[in-house]
Amino acid sequence: MQYYKENTLIYLNAEFVNAGQAGVDMFGQSLHYGYGAFEGLRSYSTHNGTRIFKAEAHFDRLQHSCESIGLPYTWDNRELIEKTYELLELNNLRAAYIRPLVYSGSNMHLTTSSRANLMIAAWEWGPYLGQNLLTVNISHIQRPDSKSFPIDAKVSGQYVNSILATSDAIHQGFDEALLLDKDGYVAQASSENLFIEKDGRIYTPPTGEIFPGITRQTVIEICKHLNFDFVEKRLSVEEVYEADSAFLSGTAAGIIGIKQVDAQPFPLAWEDTIGASIQRKYKNLVLEQENYEVII
Ligand code: PMP
Repeated sequence: MQYYKENTLIYLNAEFVNAGQAGVDMFGQSLHYGYGAFEGLRSYSTHNGTRIFKAEAHFDRLQHSCESIGLPYTWDNRELIEKTYELLELNNLRAAYIRPLVYSGSNMHLTTSSRANLMIAAWEWGPYLGQNLLTVNISHIQRPDSKSFPIDAKVSGQYVNSILATSDAIHQGFDEALLLDKDGYVAQASSENLFIEKDGRIYTPPTGEIFPGITRQTVIEICKHLNFDFVEKRLSVEEVYEADSAFLSGTAAGIIGIKQVDAQPFPLAWEDTIGASIQRKYKNLVLEQENYEVII
């Protein structure tokens, strides 16, 4: 896929520059060691104009990710949000995926960096996992352990784990992978959080051994608002196999239903699930067809 055209601009260290002409330092620490942090946001074309969903939460998380790995964060998030809106306008984008990346410069040592760069790019991107119900597998690749890594940080190097799990799942004929945590509980998908429905109740793994997604938090808010019975609880593989339905949540993927885990299809038709109601509500929220303040 082509992420930029001849005249696409990116925001790089406080300037708008041509995407194709922005170079990368071949001795960059982020390039060699994955020592960087990034975010994924989405803007939507709404009746209120182009709107980035939960922009503050995403930039706050970027700051948190950098701080948790000692990468200097010297930017003002409110200004970055303004610049992101400007970037969308300059590139004539309305519904877009937005990728801020903080990366360090030349440094071949395994020590934290005293300076960092910030880049923001945006491009048109459909739902990351498509629109059809998914088949997923229980991956033999485990999520990084919270004791070995700040797993609530969106750190570049960590995504090798996601790449391996997703590629392996696709290689085996599935759409996406579910990864277990260090204790053998089902943690989440390679870049989405997991929810299951059982006997009219929604379950999701608690924070601690998962990446705490912003969409996950939105789903929790929707459940509270709509009075859906909701529980945070670690989930065994059996509990996932025996669920009535399940879905994934993430900024890139949105809310997307799962039809089958390994060889086990879910009994409920997606249209009849609580997940389908949450999916509809989420679409209305991001498109500002409902007042978000009503929900929180
Ligand atoms: N898990 C991982 C590992 C992720 O990278 C992401 C974001 N792509 C998510 C879950 C979902 O997070 P969010 O809802 O904030 O996009």
